[in-house]
Parts: sequence; structure tokens; C-alpha cells
Amino acid sequence: MSLRAVLQALATRFAAEEEHLNRLDAATGDGDHGTTMSRGMSAATVAASDLPAAATERELLQAAGSALLSAAGGASGALFGSLLLEFAAHDDWATRFERGAQRVARVGKASPGDKSMLDALIPAGEAFKHGGFAAAASAASEGAEATIPMSAKRGRARYIENGGAGQIDPGAVSIALMVEVLREHCA
Ligand code: ADP
Ligand code: MG
Repeated sequence: MSLRAVLQALATRFAAEEEHLNRLDAATGDGDHGTTMSRGMSAATVAASDLPAAATERELLQAAGSALLSAAGGASGALFGSLLLEFAAHDDWATRFERGAQRVARVGKASPGDKSMLDALIPAGEAFKHGGFAAAASAASEGAEATIPMSAKRGRARYIENGGAGQIDPGAVSIALMVEVLREHCA
């Protein structure tokens, strides 16, 4: 698999999902999550494509993560940027998922069950160890669905009635989308 192709596919998918993710964020936050992700993934792809053909996966992920971090803004820009930067520090996906989740938890001071992207990312990493990308994609999607009854302990959803219970967490949906794209390209 080519990481450049994966990044391109992520930019395409997040552009297509921009309005959907904005609508989800409008229910629990300020309605910008789709725009943040689309803008961030597009910047990540451009940054990676500016590197020479011989660039390593680490170099591509490093450039993508830095670009996402500075372009995207918002909580999820910082968190997805940190996730890609942590991916850049490792060579296999089991370690990338595991350490990536730890970094997101550290940066966001979030725990499982807080109704955040971690509730999709942690199960994806666990499932990957046993069943690869296919299992990770299913687990991420189930993890995102499982945020529906949760009350948020982190992020803007904390400030709305019942912490957004009854609504899915948009950041968790974005993790599920990302892992689905990885499944399509890396499995
Ligand atoms: P903002 O809240 O700044 O508008 P976004 O709307 O782009 O940022 O992203 C919201 C998503 O970010 C949430 O759905 C949640 O998954 C994630 N998120 C927000 N704060 C945190 C946090 N402290 N830890 C982990 N994830 C978080
Ligand atoms: Mg928002």
C-alpha cells in the first residue's frame, strides 16, 4: 500500500463527509467538525505530496500530521494532528494505533467512556491486534455507535443538556471513517 494514496483517499472521503460531520457536530457542539477535518486532511495530503518520491512513511506521516495540526484548528485539529504525528513515530499499525490512542488520551486528557474520538480509537487498536484492518474498522464503527448514550466529559458536548446523550460523537465517527479508509487501502 502506498501511504500517499491513503492520504489522498482520506482527503477525498473527508471532503465527501464534510456536511454530514458538520451536522453531527451541530447537535453536540458548534457544527464545524466536518469543515475542520476536510480542511485538515486536504492540507495533510498537499504537504505529503510536496515531499520527494523517496520519502519514507515516517516522513510522509510527519509532514501530514504537522500540516493537519496547523491547518485544521479546533480540538480535533490538534488531536488528529497529534495522532498522525504519533503514527509517524512507528513502523507498524498495531503500535501506531496503540501509541496513537495513548497520545490522544494524553493531549485531550480524556478516558474511555468520555464520549470522544477515543471511544472509537481504542477499540480499533485492540481489534487490529487480532483481526487486522477489517476487525479494526468494525470495532471503530461499533465504538462510534456506542458513544450515543454516553454523556460527554470532554469537548463542547459537555456544555449541552445531558452531555449530548442520545447523539453520536462526531470525532468518533471521524475515527471510524479514517479506519475504514485504511481498511480499503491497507487490508
Ligand atoms: P471543536 O470542539 O473545537 O469545535 P471539533 O468540532 O472539530 O472541535 O471536534 C469535536 C470532536 O473532538 C468531538 O466529537 C470529540 O470526539 C473530539 N474531542 C474534543 N475534545 C476532546 C478531548 N479533550 N479529548 C478527546 N477528544 C476530544
Ligand atoms: Mg466543533
